[in-house]
Amino acid sequence: EATKVSNFLRQIIESDLEKGTYASRRWGGSPGDAAHHAAGQPDPAKIRTRFPPEPNGYLHIGHAKSICLNFGLARDYGGVCHMRFDDTNPEKEDTEYVNSILDAVQWLGFGWDANGTSHLFQASDYFDFMYRAAEYLIEAGHAYVDEQTPEQMRVNRGDFGKPGIDSPYRTRTPTDNLARFRQMRDGLYEDGAMVLRAKIDMASPNINMRDPAIYRIRRATHHNTGDKWCIYPMYTFAHPIEDALEQITHSICTLEFEDQRPFYDWLMERLCEGGLLAAPSPKQYEFARLNLSYVITSKRKLAQLVYDHKVSGWDDPRMPTIVGLRRRGYTPAALQAFAERIGVTKSDSWIDYATLEGCLREDLELKAHRGMAVLNPVKLVLTNWDELMGAGHLEPCTQPALPHPPEGVESPTRHFTIGKEVWIEREDFEEVPPKGYKRLFPGNKVRLKGGYVIECTGCNKDANGVITEVLATMVPDTKSGTPGSDSVKVKAAISWVGAANGVTVEVRMYDRLFLDAHPDAGGKDFLESLNPNSLKVVSAIVEPSLANALPGQNFQFERHGYFVADRVDHVTGSKPVFNLAVGLRDSWGK
Ligand code: ATP
Ligand code: MG
Ligand code: MG
Repeated sequence: EATKVSNFLRQIIESDLEKGTYASRRWGGSPGDAAHHAAGQPDPAKIRTRFPPEPNGYLHIGHAKSICLNFGLARDYGGVCHMRFDDTNPEKEDTEYVNSILDAVQWLGFGWDANGTSHLFQASDYFDFMYRAAEYLIEAGHAYVDEQTPEQMRVNRGDFGKPGIDSPYRTRTPTDNLARFRQMRDGLYEDGAMVLRAKIDMASPNINMRDPAIYRIRRATHHNTGDKWCIYPMYTFAHPIEDALEQITHSICTLEFEDQRPFYDWLMERLCEGGLLAAPSPKQYEFARLNLSYVITSKRKLAQLVYDHKVSGWDDPRMPTIVGLRRRGYTPAALQAFAERIGVTKSDSWIDYATLEGCLREDLELKAHRGMAVLNPVKLVLTNWDELMGAGHLEPCTQPALPHPPEGVESPTRHFTIGKEVWIEREDFEEVPPKGYKRLFPGNKVRLKGGYVIECTGCNKDANGVITEVLATMVPDTKSGTPGSDSVKVKAAISWVGAANGVTVEVRMYDRLFLDAHPDAGGKDFLESLNPNSLKVVSAIVEPSLANALPGQNFQFERHGYFVADRVDHVTGSKPVFNLAVGLRDSWGK
């Protein structure tokens, strides 16, 4: 395994482990909480991270970075990473998304176990505790029910450099606030009629500290708690509590939450003071989100591509979703290597798409079985075959499936045959060769890779001048792997597929989905830079071993690139469909 490059998060964790920051933690919190029971009595000397998606869409490559980061840090430091659904926003969430997220995390190679260390949690299981925490804040004078209209609240919040104005409801007594809050919970008011706000500082230079809303009225059925609640906690209030209940030590999030950190700490301090949570509290750390060139990583915009039918679905192989990348032929090892390579920083930057592709190539170079495929076929006829070999004769040939197998692995053998007719790439024949052309032209010899040396004699054309057949003779005693086979020197070996047992397959040639490297930067309409040629479907002919491909199996089609048998549409043996995952060389700079 590659050595891990240090980063600011690793330094913080190493320092905390050395100082024993969390070793003195008084576990306990509030008895009776689902989280405490589920998590058991955790080892205070261990770090605990979490991956907390909201189940409101499919995960994308940016989430993969966060997954590898959080689960990876826990793994590397002998700690624990919780899988947690941040499901506090009922209108947008769905169990379809819950299941797809669990699938994606497990496919990436991470998970949770039932033996009392790492867990699968959902924030909605803590709604009772969150409600109690809100009542505590009210009783302690740290929260109030505000009945201003949303517009009044917005205006009175003020702006940068201009302090806010206190709400007329800010001075209500805890007793009045508690009564009102309970009425909110009991459904006495319309959605949006009032909110519960933390009472902090309307003049704070940080707008997020100007009495943020912490509970709102929202009559929505929740996919986990059903219609039990008509009030729901705001994300900024819920998230720190979720971290604390799960006894997270390092709560890692993206930079846009930096301004929320003071509220995170404020809330932790208040709830520790009140004895609702144990100290020391989790701490929030921010890192730069992944921006990948030619890619958008906003769930909302990805959803638009799906609903406007710009792609075939969330798992379209052009989508940067984890299901899309998987269907495209990406492997968990490639995505993990990518996350490691890009590292974590505190400042935003763009990662070149070629970096992602490079990680896939490196993984598949050693692992993917080779095969020959002809994507733009023209027939080649060996005019002396019948005379030399006998009419209808098919000569068996073999090649290793893995020319450079990893240590300790023995390469399987591919079997195919050569006969009088084979398919070659149209571009491998030139009637009048350009300067330096080394492949087939009249009078030139090449090797059919893994077969014989042949000499080109000409071609046949139809009435429009289109070449219908390339003609050649085979040179006897040159079969690959036989003694003396290399006595005839050639300058090129071309790929081919025997016409007698080649298999016709559908190949989906994918290209970048956007032509603009930053499709949604600076408020641009990302739909305007959609690449009209991001998918080209061709009918190709492949060697027989590829007919047995299993859905999701990766191959290298020699000279063309890495392909994968489509997870969804490929049927082994009867309806082969392959997707282009990545070419053999970087072509993104062009
Ligand atoms: P989006 O902005 O696409 O809607 P999100 O941030 O709302 O995504 P969440 O489900 O809240 O999605 O994210 C789960 C975790 O993944 C969060 O911790 C978030 O910081 C992280 N994450 C989301 N997008 C990226 C990204 N582009 N790079 C790194 N981490 C990300
Ligand atoms: Mg979110
Ligand atoms: Mg977001």
